[in-house]
Amino acid sequence: KKKNENQPEFIQAATEILESIEPVFEKHPEYQKAGLLERYVEPERIVVFRVPWIDDEGKVRVNRGYRIQFNSAIGPYKGGLRFHESVNLSIIKFLGFEQILKNSLTGMNIGGGKGGSDFNPKGKSDNEIMRFCQSFMTELYNYIGPDTDVPAGDIGVGSREVGFLFGQYNRISNEHHCVLTGSGLEYGSSLVRTEATGYGLVYITEEALKQRGDSFKGKTVVVSGSGNVAIYAAEKAIMLGAKVIAMSDSSGYIYDENGIQIPFIKEIKEINYGRISEYLDYFDDETLTAEFVEGSNHIWNLKCDIAFPCATQNELDGDSARKLVSNNVKYLSEGANMPCTLEATEILQKAGVVYLPGKAANAGGVATSALEMAQRSSKLCWSFEEVDSRLKAIMVNIYHCIDQAAKEYGFEENYVIGSNIAGFIKVANAMMAQGVV
Ligand code: NDP
Repeated sequence: KKKNENQPEFIQAATEILESIEPVFEKHPEYQKAGLLERYVEPERIVVFRVPWIDDEGKVRVNRGYRIQFNSAIGPYKGGLRFHESVNLSIIKFLGFEQILKNSLTGMNIGGGKGGSDFNPKGKSDNEIMRFCQSFMTELYNYIGPDTDVPAGDIGVGSREVGFLFGQYNRISNEHHCVLTGSGLEYGSSLVRTEATGYGLVYITEEALKQRGDSFKGKTVVVSGSGNVAIYAAEKAIMLGAKVIAMSDSSGYIYDENGIQIPFIKEIKEINYGRISEYLDYFDDETLTAEFVEGSNHIWNLKCDIAFPCATQNELDGDSARKLVSNNVKYLSEGANMPCTLEATEILQKAGVVYLPGKAANAGGVATSALEMAQRSSKLCWSFEEVDSRLKAIMVNIYHCIDQAAKEYGFEENYVIGSNIAGFIKVANAMMAQGVV
């Protein structure tokens, strides 16, 4: 903790993981001897760099860029880039740390990394975003490669930004490498990548429901956020017979007891980069049943059977968890990375809520990125159905892996511990086999 003070998010993520893998170290004293823990918490490499760019008024702006290459024991670094004003070393480190276990859980051979910048794309013109992305890639270029490190999108980095980043990489290297996943379909992205994290979240939850003799049919669902993960989680839940009654952005949430209409959210968020409150403009006085409520975290006061926090870290605190429990929520699956505080997690688990943590529940995105890498290196394009069925199989497999690990170590139905242990063992064994490096 001392070494990483002023990194609260990293300490939060590391505390949760390290506490839950203690039983693994008890069972495997050889890990302790090999200094595995000390090596595991230390990133292999941290790159911090200047990103200068010129805005539309001709003024020079400077942001800070990051790439953390955390662990490459099981494969090349893989993890998204986040562009948001809140980005700092602690946030990128926590995301990279979680990514190691998430990638391991997918069953594919990909290591953990993460990056981004404190650049805020909101309110910037396309030209400003392009100039920023070109400058960012001019430096990042030195550290990535198809067999070294393959970044992707995250908050604030969608297909537009990935396109600009890839264009610059291609220009500098003169090689059409698979060095970024999640780009445009015309130049290498896999079908289903856009939907993958949200759909995957629903597939793993569907498996948890199925194991309990239940399904999405007739369930009421609350989804926070209205970005990439939220939209496709809501879409798939509705396809399986659930009703999504609320979605949010950082300004507040919309609620409609009759169900939110996802095509309108897609238009507002994916095409117009607008605000969630604009949803009300799609209805006239007679058809309007939705309302907009300011204050995004109040969304957890709504009664639902299933909660999908899909916005950002620590968006769901102890009070929100208590409210959800008193409203009888049965399942909570994390679409975002670490959306629940440690207190919220404890409250939900104690109350017997089936709680699927982000590193397992939102792994569908990175798993599909790995499928994209496989398609690109073999110069093949699989159909939507083929990728979707592989994604579903991966998510079902993750559920059973974490369930099994939890049982094996005596923590039945504790999927936080199950995920951490199942993800860690593969990485630990690879690190052991490769010696002290
Ligand atoms: P986007 O940028 O597409 O969307 C983020 C959404 O969350 C926006 O609607 C944003 O609203 C909203 N938001 C941000 N802060 C809050 C808040 N405090 N309360 C309510 N809403 C908020 O990001 P993604 O959907 O890609 O990512 C969301 C989360 O999922 C992140 O934690 C990310 O790391 C994680 N994730 C994403 C994956 C992916 O494939 N995209 C893969 C795995 C994890 P506003 O526009 O107002 O900022």
